[in-house]
Amino acid sequence: MSTSTAFGQSTVLGYPRIGANRELKNAVEAYWAGRIDADHLEKTAAGLRAEVWRTLANARLDAIPSNTFSYYDHMLDTAVAVGAIPGRFARLGLSPLDTYFAMARGVDAEPALELTKWFDTNYHYLVPEIGPDTVFTANPTKALREYTEARELGITTRPVLVGPGTFLLLAKGNDPFARLDDLVEAYAGILTALAQVGVAWVQLDEPAYVVDRSPAEIDALHRAYTRLGEIAPRPRIFVATYFGELGDALPALLDTPVEAIGLDLVAGPGNLDRLAAAGPLRGKTIVAGLVDGRNIWRSDLRAAVAAGATVTALADHIAVSTSCSLLHLPVDLAVETHLDPDLHARLAFARQKVDEVVLLGRALRDRTAHLPAPLPPAPTKWRHDDVRGRLAALRPADRQRGDYANRAAAQQQRLELPELPTTTIGSFPQTAELRKVRAAYRAGTLDDADYRSRMRAEVEHVIRLQEELGLDVLVHGEPERNDMVQYFGEQLDGFAATEHGWVQSYGSRCVRPPIIYGDVARKAPMTVEWSIYAQSLTSKPVKGMLTGPVTILAWSFVRTDQPLSDTADQVALALRDECHDLEAAGIRVIQVDEPALRETLPLRRADQNAYLDWAVGAFRLATSGVADDTQIHTHLCYSEFGEVINAIAALDADVTSIEASRSKMEVLDDLAAIGYCRGVGPGVWDIHSPRVPSRDEVVEALVRAGAVVPAPRLWVNPDCGLKTRGYPEVETSLRHLVAAAAEVRQN
Ligand code: GLN
Ligand code: ZN
Repeated sequence: MSTSTAFGQSTVLGYPRIGANRELKNAVEAYWAGRIDADHLEKTAAGLRAEVWRTLANARLDAIPSNTFSYYDHMLDTAVAVGAIPGRFARLGLSPLDTYFAMARGVDAEPALELTKWFDTNYHYLVPEIGPDTVFTANPTKALREYTEARELGITTRPVLVGPGTFLLLAKGNDPFARLDDLVEAYAGILTALAQVGVAWVQLDEPAYVVDRSPAEIDALHRAYTRLGEIAPRPRIFVATYFGELGDALPALLDTPVEAIGLDLVAGPGNLDRLAAAGPLRGKTIVAGLVDGRNIWRSDLRAAVAAGATVTALADHIAVSTSCSLLHLPVDLAVETHLDPDLHARLAFARQKVDEVVLLGRALRDRTAHLPAPLPPAPTKWRHDDVRGRLAALRPADRQRGDYANRAAAQQQRLELPELPTTTIGSFPQTAELRKVRAAYRAGTLDDADYRSRMRAEVEHVIRLQEELGLDVLVHGEPERNDMVQYFGEQLDGFAATEHGWVQSYGSRCVRPPIIYGDVARKAPMTVEWSIYAQSLTSKPVKGMLTGPVTILAWSFVRTDQPLSDTADQVALALRDECHDLEAAGIRVIQVDEPALRETLPLRRADQNAYLDWAVGAFRLATSGVADDTQIHTHLCYSEFGEVINAIAALDADVTSIEASRSKMEVLDDLAAIGYCRGVGPGVWDIHSPRVPSRDEVVEALVRAGAVVPAPRLWVNPDCGLKTRGYPEVETSLRHLVAAAAEVRQN
């Protein structure tokens, strides 16, 4: 074992890797486009890594992570580190870098690894494909290189890898978890290689153990870390957990030779009690995640010191850390110069969280250390007493529409739709031209009148196209929306937008989530102008298009000084008023998208019902103020609906469009099983690829769907919005979709 044994008093579990100005995004995209070569890309990457280490060292953080950089994703990096490159990619015969990008993005003949959400965050990882014949081998190259690079800068680091348990629990294939013992030997090889160059500590991330796990899975974790503990020589092992409470996995881990365990005390406050119940923690370092690594608010450092003191009393050593990797935060608040100073004073981005951790580490050692004063209460200008009054006066009836049978009859009479009505999910292709127009408007080089006339021309084009194609319920195409949450955030009180607050979503894709800091209130109608204009061009119904309260919260940084459910209801009231205005303007169909309903589901089953109650309640508050003959649609994107199937029904939308083409319509069986009896539009065209479905394929999908859902309730639509697609494939695909519906109607 290495001679240097102390963990240090302060650390972070990871840091944003895209660069302060998204340099990594620009570099990898330039490499993909052939504008720069691998050497150039590698130099840019090394520069970004050095910048992160220097930043952390200059902040006086004393335990600095490495191997947290990634060209695309840390799960993919771990797959490469343990040799889990599926044969279909290895066979391509590409360079290691291009094999890596082939796994991430696919190549002509080989689709990419599946992309899925990283726990309950908005980050997406690549799902390793593990089978009985995966041959695990230790490939420590990347971890060694980063460690050595940092050392050359005079900075000692702690290499980070996803741990073996989490790696397999998140993998797919034929029982990947059964391969744990083999995989652990590959990790043993990596640990040995790291020890040989003098690595003192390694961090293995095991967030999968804050989710409900079976006793067998917990036993396996115990076995894995007992085995890794036996290896000699090896670095000291720090097992990091985050996003919630570790539960029964905590005593199991404490019973292994690992030297340090990380606990998220922000998302998992119960971890403290569990730690106390575990008895004396001889020889263990507890890495206390006291600073929220996922939200942008400054910490209450005095409360954090108190929690830290509790840990100090229990463990031999304590280190202070962020609750999780800072990957989920924008890089630096210092560059945000346009925020309200009262808001700015309350914020901390990744760089500022590092300072908080350092301060806390000092304060825990030296109780006389100076801590900044807690923030004064939020200014009253952020309060909306009218909104609070409405919230307080809400009754159950405000979340309840009339009987569905009456609604369906009234809507049919008013809309006169054919059987198997055809529609789309909302957006039409966002062309480069459109983006340019929006950017020019934003920059002030295009005035309001010009902007509006350009957007109107686009709406007209989209309406004409849909009429020509013969769709039944039309959309305006959403050309004015940069993003389905940001668009509303920019128009509501209580929201702020950052200028540079980019956060990695997956690969080179970054998002800039709005901040909900105060009471939410609608200043003026947000979408009505566009809907009215679109409806004026056609006699067919045009759908109003809104983003639901749960999705708006899920894709924002949300205030923590009141329950999420209250903030959701405030957003819902704003949307309810918008529905009312749309209705008054003659809009007969309104779609309220909730793609994040499933995404935001709490990780532990015990917390899920409470969440679904308020989430469904907020949606219903937004949508139940309309008349019986106004048709409410909702749309959900993701395909694992199992746990939320009852909640989908409870939304009480008249029509639900849902991702189904990849799951082969299974979701319809699940809906049938719970007696769902309202309209449903299973996506018959997978819009996530440029492939055009043939008419026969759509017919086949409709016949399959028709076997479960009777014709009067079955809708025909793509999987999701068309904004990422191009016009040529959209036109042909929609033509096939309309023709297929006509054919199935005949039979
Ligand atoms: N109405 C949105 C669109 O069509 C829905 C997008 C989504 O569900 N993610 O783009
Ligand atoms: Zn969707």
